[in-house]
Amino acid sequence: MATLIKNGIIVSTADEFKGDILIENGKITTIGINLENHTDDIVNASGMYVLPGGIDQHTHFSFTYKNAKVRGFETSNAAAIGGTTTVIDFVNQKPGKGIVESVKEYDKNEVSNVAMVDYSFHGIVFEATNEIFEEIPTLPKEGIPTLKLFMAYKGFPYHCDDEAVFRALKASKDSGVTIMVHAENADVIDVLQKECLKKGLTDPYYHAVSRPPLVEVEATQRAINLARLADAPLYVVHVSAKEAMEAIRDANISGSSIYGETCTHYLILDTDNLAKPNFEGAKYVCSPALRSIEHRESLWKGVKKGWLNAISSDHCGFDWKVQKNMGKDDFTSIPNGAPGLQNRLGILWTFGVETGKISRQKLVDLFSTAPAKINGIDYVKGHIGIGYDADIVIYNPNTKNIISVENSLQGVDYSPYEGMTQIGNVEKVFLRGELIVDAGKYIGKVGDGKFVKGKPFGLCYEDIK
Ligand SMILES: [Zn+2]
Repeated sequence: MATLIKNGIIVSTADEFKGDILIENGKITTIGINLENHTDDIVNASGMYVLPGGIDQHTHFSFTYKNAKVRGFETSNAAAIGGTTTVIDFVNQKPGKGIVESVKEYDKNEVSNVAMVDYSFHGIVFEATNEIFEEIPTLPKEGIPTLKLFMAYKGFPYHCDDEAVFRALKASKDSGVTIMVHAENADVIDVLQKECLKKGLTDPYYHAVSRPPLVEVEATQRAINLARLADAPLYVVHVSAKEAMEAIRDANISGSSIYGETCTHYLILDTDNLAKPNFEGAKYVCSPALRSIEHRESLWKGVKKGWLNAISSDHCGFDWKVQKNMGKDDFTSIPNGAPGLQNRLGILWTFGVETGKISRQKLVDLFSTAPAKINGIDYVKGHIGIGYDADIVIYNPNTKNIISVENSLQGVDYSPYEGMTQIGNVEKVFLRGELIVDAGKYIGKVGDGKFVKGKPFGLCYEDIK
């Protein structure tokens, strides 16, 4: 089974050129100019960009808040039509169980039968017991080289104190596990939330008021120092504040292995969205909170300069009408999360490439190549190269489309990007050589997504001998 993609502009992190790609048995076997037609299956990509399939390293297909559960992997075709061929999903540790057991159970019961793109996992610590710290060095053996701890969310089972973060960092480094943190000061948020509610300030906008940029900056700096004390690398997820980004940049420049990502919504939305009337602001409740335009513009600069090295969706599919409505009279009860898995490429293309904020090469890096390296799957994913999985996106830059919940496969009743004009569209997507999106429509098979083993000592370890 062979497919030849002809005359597209093939983009990598370093360059781009007009050429052809031969796919055989799911792998890229030849790249060149004017390749001979060895097959009848020829795809004309003339006038289109050919990109490596996206890797979204931050999705939540299994989060539960109170009684509300997000949409799961049965909506992972939304990734496919958005040009993402691999998701790295956060798996919550189950009560009384280890990380590996929790991941395996989740994979068996909720993922492997329905996944429509390839996938890998990060664990999330819910019970910071001795057993968990002992388990950390064993994670790479199972193909799970990353683990997240929440410094935020006081009073929730997944909140981790400094002791837990420090012990996890210490336990991680010899085995090449990358510790990820959600960095916000839980105690300060708790005080500020209570102050708002006491004053009767219950609208979604107060989500941002009670989580100002400094609660993120403080926790980011603290996490950096904990990593330095443990002499371990650190990855900070969903960075949204300018000064948090600068703390990561400065630590990295001074020789510490500290890295971070930002997310699509922090690059194009802002606090005005949270102020929308009639509870519409609840659609934009995610943590950290959306920031002012000044932060947004500095994040664009940061991703361009490489101070943050990936852009994820932090996809979290809670409905607005029922699930977010739990916080109708109390913003602290609104389930946090923004559904945007399907829109990551279109938005980065439209608001990044088309405006000149980032190059196409940088887009490929932020969208695919760097996340592959961070999570140790760059031996098969994240690059159009010989021997790599044929995960390929053909992007047509010549169309204009309105983003709407109407054409979303995310299974959620709203889109945070409703009404925005997107330039270009995902025309075709190949997953290991199989055409799973054609003319923008998902045509793949439910359950065809496969687990990709992550290897330890990912990108965050590159400067550590
Ligand atoms: Zn998240």
